[in-house]
Amino acid sequence: MLFKDTASYYEKLEGTSSRLEMIDILSELLSKSSSDEIKHLIYLTQGVLSPSFEGIVIGMAESFAEQAIAAATGYSKDSVIDAYKRSGDLGTTAESFCAKSKLKRINSKRFEVNDIYESMHRIAKTGGTGSQELKIRMLMEMLSASSPLEARYITRFALGRLRLGLGDATILEALSKAFTGSRDSKPVLENAYNICSDLGRIGEIISKDGIKGIEAIEVGLFSPIRPALAERLPTAEEILEKTHGECAIESKYDGLRQQIHMDRKRKKVEIYSRNLEVLTPMFPEVVKAALDEIDADSAIIEGEAIGYNESTDQFLPFQETIQRKRKHGVEEMSREMPLTLFSFDIMYLNGKETMTRPYHERRKLLESVLKKRRMIRLSDRIVTKDPKKIDEYFNNVIEDGLEGIMAKELNSKYIAGARKFSWIKLKRSYKGELSDTLDLVILGYYLGKGLRAEFKFGGLLAGVYNEKDDVFETITRIGTGFSEAQMKSLKKALDEIKSKHRPARVNAVVEPDFWVDPKFIVTVRADEITQSSMHTCGINNGKGYALRFPRLVSDGIREDKSAEDATTTKEVIEMFEMQRKSKLSG
Ligand code: ATP
Repeated sequence: MLFKDTASYYEKLEGTSSRLEMIDILSELLSKSSSDEIKHLIYLTQGVLSPSFEGIVIGMAESFAEQAIAAATGYSKDSVIDAYKRSGDLGTTAESFCAKSKLKRINSKRFEVNDIYESMHRIAKTGGTGSQELKIRMLMEMLSASSPLEARYITRFALGRLRLGLGDATILEALSKAFTGSRDSKPVLENAYNICSDLGRIGEIISKDGIKGIEAIEVGLFSPIRPALAERLPTAEEILEKTHGECAIESKYDGLRQQIHMDRKRKKVEIYSRNLEVLTPMFPEVVKAALDEIDADSAIIEGEAIGYNESTDQFLPFQETIQRKRKHGVEEMSREMPLTLFSFDIMYLNGKETMTRPYHERRKLLESVLKKRRMIRLSDRIVTKDPKKIDEYFNNVIEDGLEGIMAKELNSKYIAGARKFSWIKLKRSYKGELSDTLDLVILGYYLGKGLRAEFKFGGLLAGVYNEKDDVFETITRIGTGFSEAQMKSLKKALDEIKSKHRPARVNAVVEPDFWVDPKFIVTVRADEITQSSMHTCGINNGKGYALRFPRLVSDGIREDKSAEDATTTKEVIEMFEMQRKSKLSG
């Protein structure tokens, strides 16, 4: 398929904010691509070069791209910079410079989708001395031979800012429509995506082998599983009711979630984060322990890694554990702050998936492969039918400095990628505050007044994720809780993704000074959930949900979560109901 045709589809996608229309346009595009290019087409359309766990990222500096545009069109870099200042989008700037290029253009070049993908891949992989010049030259060569519209998307892509605003759910629905004729097969595709986490692979398989091929996708080593998530309930009684009268109660450790894949034959270990990025180089002691302590030929286990002092039996707070997520000084930090992994699940053992076995069997398997229990231990737990025992356990873990408990239904399978009542969390509540924090996605920001004018930052417009419609909805404006350093770093990060126009998939009635692409998550505490006509979260009859006295509690942006990991509209509605009930009961 020619990239020229793909670019026209991208232009159509940009022109609509209707999700159904997006699905139609995208499914037409996908159905036109051949099975040996669809994988790359999907990555390009997502604005990436690989699934996150393969870690090939593109993100050229703006100044390199400006230089490439200038060189490809015969203008000075300064004139490109001037035009960019006016347009605010280097993609459309490249487009207009290509349209009025002073140089003879190589019109004979007809880029295929795979040509563009491979060139971008080469740019991303080029490193070492002289790599900057090389990258600029590669981009320049592409821009010299592209049409103006192709140049728009090539430039945005090189910067890592394609901004088509397509969520995973939308791509899955479009794939279903393209290859089965309707959106009805989305659940089958979603199921496959939850166990392989790779939309490109899903596209390739459905295009080659149809829905049968998708149904045959299995859990495998080094292909991370999308994590199971927990619902919330406020009391032990309600937890027992939901879990049919008996459940396991585990300590809820507040550290870093890790999914560990181990293959003994190849002596290979990979560690994936909650949002499926590779953490392996950051945790050498976990890699060693996986080979030393997991008594199996191959396994996928999951747990929470947390700083833990055995002699005092104390856990380090999350803010300290998170220091271990770093690229430099890894060995030193691993000596200074060794982690303990409290493992709580096993999804694969010796060549077979174990996800579909009931929790109580998985726990037995986990206990049987973890006998040494030095660095990798088991999550502490009880199994009970008694609400008093749950309350007692809860009070003990809070005293130990943990954040709460996780209840697990004894007969449930591991439900990848979904928030279900097979796992239920109950967290400590503070006086006059919601018992849980919210992970909100930043949708825009305001310019500062008074003292804050200096930082040009006056707070955030934040929202939640509506899973059902695959859109983001606003819930609050956050004006407080920022340190000076946070204001500066937030402003810097947001300026890179700001826009004058409301991004696709964002529903809002308020207007911030600048919109930003839904990308970054912050954790927020509030006193209460209220109802308001200002926000679109769960909007019904003109009334949505909003937060009273919201304040930032994460130390800036949460690197371990992506936009679609934000608290969902459904969760907010449930939290509102929990709050109403607890008010009624005094
Ligand atoms: P939170 O911010 O409350 O951790 P979350 O959205 O990151 O929420 P949830 O699925 O709602 O994730 O809560 C479960 C989280 O708790 C998991 O992501 C996991 O990292 C952590 N956790 C800690 N201890 C356990 C445990 N024993 N079993 C399962 N998950 C646990």
